[in-house]
Amino acid sequence: MYYPLSKLPNVGLTIFTEMSQLALQENAINLGQGFPDYPMDKQLIGLVNQAMLDGNNQYAHSNGIPLIRQKLAQKVADLYHSNIDPDTQITITPGGTYAIYTALTSFLQKDDEVILFEPAYDCYVPIIELNGAKPVYIQLQAPEYAIDWQEVRSKITNRTKAIIINSPQNPTGSVLSKQDIQELIAVTEGTDIIVISDEVYEHLIFDDLQHESILKYPELLKRGFACFSFGKTYNCTGWKLGYAISAPELMAEFRKVHQFNCFSSFTPTQVALARFLDNKAAYLELGKKMQAKRDFLQNALKNAPFKPLTSHGSYFHCYEYQGGLKETGIDLAKKITAQYKVATIPVSAFYHDGGAPNQILRFCFCKQDTTLEEAGRRLSIFN
Ligand code: PMP
Ligand code: GLN
Repeated sequence: MYYPLSKLPNVGLTIFTEMSQLALQENAINLGQGFPDYPMDKQLIGLVNQAMLDGNNQYAHSNGIPLIRQKLAQKVADLYHSNIDPDTQITITPGGTYAIYTALTSFLQKDDEVILFEPAYDCYVPIIELNGAKPVYIQLQAPEYAIDWQEVRSKITNRTKAIIINSPQNPTGSVLSKQDIQELIAVTEGTDIIVISDEVYEHLIFDDLQHESILKYPELLKRGFACFSFGKTYNCTGWKLGYAISAPELMAEFRKVHQFNCFSSFTPTQVALARFLDNKAAYLELGKKMQAKRDFLQNALKNAPFKPLTSHGSYFHCYEYQGGLKETGIDLAKKITAQYKVATIPVSAFYHDGGAPNQILRFCFCKQDTTLEEAGRRLSIFN
């Protein structure tokens, strides 16, 4: 047997796969991995079906079908008052992760440094390392998980090639403010730093906050990639369709990598979504619906030994366990799954080294009210 030298020697199964498998095995309610357990819009399913019957079954244009790119440019103009050229600035991708992967791969060189904030979504570090670059970590502090911009300044060197931001953030639900964006503009001004802005939760924002897309800021758009996912917006995480938007010069490099990786994305969903994008309510009303779910879960957990931290967006809310179990991190999440039949994700999994030991767990609330209610009931009987 030949074992190649691993490019990711420290990587195992993702925490999402691990906890979803455990949930199945334990017959537990899965509030771990981020996906809705309710059906998506039937009209949108019908549009995909129709697109296939209409013969849209061959390779799409490598950049994405023209109509969906035009509709997205219109959406960006409406929401963020920014003029994006659909021909040179948008590429449709098989998911948000792929958009982030391709963006970073299109410019990272060996030994470049990339600043990211922990706890961080799990794909960033492996992508950086696969490109021979180095992650530079900045820790966000509970319960607000806000960025200390002074620390960012102190971590910038002449090798800093990129900063990854994610708002609303996974796993914490924290949201960047206008002030944060002004700081980001100030720290990157006059440098060659590229901003990767993971905006897959752009519409899942609560408490009357506004999403601060980098697309609103010409100073950032000229040096940034904004990455999106239709899976989060239309309750279809399994469709794996997303897109990236950037300045034309950056997008030209992105497309060089993209055309030799998957070349093009699944055609029928592009045709369907291009039509469905006219339905603005479908995404504009999402934040309110998801906020109600955040609050529903919080109410369901009011008699359980969990103290809510702050979540202003995303599918997620972190809670600090305050019961009698002594375990921390993954051990705590596993024990609760086995004993109380509710699976969550330990926030420790979002740190490269596990972070400081803690009992903070991430709950996914994009679930039916009955699911959330039952999880609350199960977690309220111990302590
Ligand atoms: N970024 C973040 C912060 C996410 O939570 C996710 C997935 N849930 C993605 C990117 C990836 O999106 P996709 O499933 O479209 O690849
Ligand atoms: N983004 C999802 C989450 O945070 C999981 C996606 C995956 O399983 N890779 O739960």
